[in-house]
Amino acid sequence: MRAWERGFRGVVDEPAVMSNATSRAAGARLPERERRRRILEALARLYPDARTELRHDTPFQLLVATVLSAQCTDRRVNLITARLFPRHPDAEAIAAMTVEDLEAQIRDCGLFRSKARHILQLSRLLVERHGGEVPRDRAALEALPGVGRKTASVVLWSAFGIPAFAVDTHVLRVSHRLGLASDPTPLGTERELCRRVPRALWGPAHHWLILHGRRVCVARSPRCPSCPILPYCPEGLRREGPSPQER
Ligand code: SF4
Repeated sequence: MRAWERGFRGVVDEPAVMSNATSRAAGARLPERERRRRILEALARLYPDARTELRHDTPFQLLVATVLSAQCTDRRVNLITARLFPRHPDAEAIAAMTVEDLEAQIRDCGLFRSKARHILQLSRLLVERHGGEVPRDRAALEALPGVGRKTASVVLWSAFGIPAFAVDTHVLRVSHRLGLASDPTPLGTERELCRRVPRALWGPAHHWLILHGRRVCVARSPRCPSCPILPYCPEGLRREGPSPQER
């Protein structure tokens, strides 16, 4: 059993009831804590194997892939790293590249010039200060060029299993629609989510919300009628109204 599943069992002591039989009105009347619990339970069932889609073999490769993924799809990043990593698998190898070489390797990626500069600088810093290893510490990660709070959170959870709630555009949008958070900033949203979601679920919930945002709760036209979480979602209920039986 994975660590987050143990945490989840503590949250959901009576696994149940995410069924079509749950009426929209009944879902909306649930106490807030129970509503949140059911949302998390539903997401866990929908995306049981959710994890980062960025291919990597080491924390360093995940760090580089995450830096590349800003304004770039995971699919495109995976194509780029499939070219880059076989010959440059670690901090030492990338630190030895010229910026022109690295730019040529990643030029399919948006913002490739600034990303090349950051990846080169961070690789050299890792070699100089951390023996080529990625630190397991937020402050040390965020001190690296091109590494912000979200990237550090992704690496802490997905590389080291350290609970962290990375908030990207999908997490922000979906958590707001679901009424799990309301602060307009990523940092404020992260703080709300960290208060309302059990610590053991921070990492998995980040992946659940991303997948739900990509597949169902898409930005322009969320697929509310077919969304299994509709009975518990304020935004979905606002858009769809009561079910025909409840009218
Ligand atoms: Fe998104 Fe609609 Fe599902 Fe709510 S019901 S999570 S708004 S798709």
